[in-house]
Parts: sequence; C-alpha cells; structure tokens
Amino acid sequence: MSARRVLIAGNWKMNCLSADAKALAGGLADKMKAAGAVNFEMLVCPPAVLIPTAVDAVAGSAIKVGGQDCHMNAKGAHTGDTAAAQLKDAGCGYVIVGHSERRTDHGESDEVVKAKAAAAQTNGLVAVICIGETEAQRDAGKTLDVNGTQIAGSVPDGSTAANTVIAYEPVWAIGTGRTPTSAEVQDVHAFIRGELAKKIGADEAAKTRILYGGSMNPKNAKELLALADVDGGLIGGASLKVEDFWAVAESV
Ligand code: PEP
Repeated sequence: MSARRVLIAGNWKMNCLSADAKALAGGLADKMKAAGAVNFEMLVCPPAVLIPTAVDAVAGSAIKVGGQDCHMNAKGAHTGDTAAAQLKDAGCGYVIVGHSERRTDHGESDEVVKAKAAAAQTNGLVAVICIGETEAQRDAGKTLDVNGTQIAGSVPDGSTAANTVIAYEPVWAIGTGRTPTSAEVQDVHAFIRGELAKKIGADEAAKTRILYGGSMNPKNAKELLALADVDGGLIGGASLKVEDFWAVAESV
C-alpha cells in the first residue's frame, strides 16, 4: 500500500459569494469533525477574496485552505496579484499554480508556472502544479510528450514531496463530463512519476502525490482513486456542493 496520503482538493474557481463560501467550507468542516479519523487529507481552494471566510469556516477541523494562484515575486507593483506570503499569512497551506485556465487565460508558460511554484515553496506553501494535454495534443498522440515537457519545465529544481503536489488535468476533461479511461489515467500518472524522478530523484518522486483532475465526481471517483499512481483528485464542479465533494472523499 502506498505511503502517500490521498489529497482531495477542491478548486472553487471563480464561484461563490461569502455566504456560499461559509456554507460550503462550514458544511465540509462539520462532516470532517463528525467523521473523526479519515484516510484522506481535504483541501479547499476558494477565490482569493474568500480565503479568510473559508479559513474561519474550517477552523477546528483538519480541512486545509489553499489559493488558486500566486505571483512569482515577493511583493511590489503587481496590481491585482497575490503574493505567496500573503496567502500563507491568510491561513493557506497550499496554492494551485499553472491551472490550464491560467495557462490559457493569462498566457502562463512553464517558466512562469515554475517561478510561481518556487515562490510558493519558499513561503512555506505546498505548490499544486497543474499539467495536462489539450484535446488536439491528445489526438496527435502527444499526451506523454506534452506532460513530460510540462514536468521538466514547471517543477522547480530541488522540489520535494513535502512542498509539491502534481495535478494531471487533461484540458479536454475539465468541466466536460469526459475522462480518459482508468488505464489511460494510470499510464499517464506512472509516466509523470518517472519524469518527476528525473527531475527530483526517485525517492522524492515515489513520495510525491499526483492528483487526477478533470470531471471527477462521486460516480467515477472510486475507480480513479483506486489506481496505483493516483494519489487524490483536484475537483472543480463537484467541489461546489458539500454532499458531492464529501462523497468523492468518502470513496477513497
Ligand atoms: C479543475 O478545474 O481543476 C477541474 C478538474 O474541474 P472539473 O472537476 O469541473 O472538471
């Protein structure tokens, strides 16, 4: 059995007002407290402005809070951005970097994602580094090439299992209701672990959690989470309802 502790992470994206955030994070905290000892770690990643609300709502439970992005620089003239130190100061333990929506909407390259991940790690946050191929790349048979290149380019040198999580999110599976087959997911995750080993060494790679993301839901979670190299999920749509997100976690 793997020593890697399964991480169930919710990416709320640009959803929720403060009342929703309070109800969602608070509802999960109630479930967590009632459950007692669980065999997974739970993380919620609200929009930056709702982080304090979520931090308050999960207080007293084991649920962690994370950001959805951070700037690569420590501070200064970057209007609209959030520094990793500010996320840490607000109560975050994690931050997602390089989500495909940021890579697309904000033109973030592997180099930028790597710098953001390094900023996160330097400030005591765990960087959840997202990678994944587009549908066109998949159709062209480039899935492994693309993910290998993204691991090589987006993961900072010297990353460790303690400060890094990889999220494999096929872009074509995000929010579409479509997923790769379980065999495909396992193959890509095993490949990613191998590429990670080249970058950070076999020991750290073996301990690093690799999440699957892309239309994970209460129906398909059990099968996906049972795969040997799948160490949790990064969940968008199904993380916005207490019952759905908790059901995903319970299928660990
Ligand atoms: C995501 O955006 O990280 C994601 C996986 O979304 P969804 O679960 O909605 O596909």
